[in-house]
Amino acid sequence: MGGVEDVIEPVAGLVAGGGVVVLSGAGLSTESGIPDYRGPSGAARRHSPMTYQTFVGDALARRRYWARSYLGWRLIARAAPNDGHRAVARLQHADLVSGIITQNVDGLHTAAGSRDVVELHGRLDEVICLGCADRTSRRDLDRRLRLANPGFVARAAAINPDGDVDLDDAEVAGFRTVDCVSCGGMLKPDVVFFGEMVPAARVQSCFAMVERARLLLVLGSSLTVMSGRRFVLRAAKRGVPVVIVNQGPTRGDGYARLRVDAPLGRLLPALADRLVGDPSAPAATTGAMPAPA
Ligand SMILES: [Zn+2]
Repeated sequence: MGGVEDVIEPVAGLVAGGGVVVLSGAGLSTESGIPDYRGPSGAARRHSPMTYQTFVGDALARRRYWARSYLGWRLIARAAPNDGHRAVARLQHADLVSGIITQNVDGLHTAAGSRDVVELHGRLDEVICLGCADRTSRRDLDRRLRLANPGFVARAAAINPDGDVDLDDAEVAGFRTVDCVSCGGMLKPDVVFFGEMVPAARVQSCFAMVERARLLLVLGSSLTVMSGRRFVLRAAKRGVPVVIVNQGPTRGDGYARLRVDAPLGRLLPALADRLVGDPSAPAATTGAMPAPA
């Protein structure tokens, strides 16, 4: 198996022209310790994804979602951007990347310094009330859930020491959910669930970005769901070349000018080094970060 160096040349050749729109998926965040979610629901791959209809219509399923999500939030809140996110930000600051569309709900592109990121499926760190549309922070909700469920995290951790968010029925039955403080309405993470539409204006602005692009660069998405795949289809239809970097096959491979199977945490920094220079030189002189002990 060849190294990253063997595949970087053709990718760099295409990205060097600028006007790149990035479409990123779960594969970009796995190296940040975020499990490879199949979709925006926050449910891990082996669980069937929560749909909007089930969430609002089934109180028990909703309780199970919040119990599992309450534990899973610890992983998300702790997660930090990885070298792949930082490399995308460097390419954006060098004006090679003109836009970023992400299917991820973890906020890590922005945390890495990217700007104007279109978060297609929303953000897990925000909560919306389905009654009054009040938007609150997940951090506040987490505090309320902790008060309502003392000891829950410790008990779950004792049963699942590896942090796996699997709960049996008895644990779920003991979990207490909370409602909107303003109106008592049902709370929902502000992410797009399966069975729910991405807001039309958000989709249209993504289509416009893709149509103006010189290149669509897909990073770490299997393009399983149409929510992301439609942008690859649109690019192909408009003659915008598509480059896909993903470990494993994708449902967009047939449309790709170039298809690369490589770890993003290694390929993207090498790409940024090649195109915008080695970051270690300026970073050493700015002193923005404390020196490692
Ligand atoms: Zn409300």
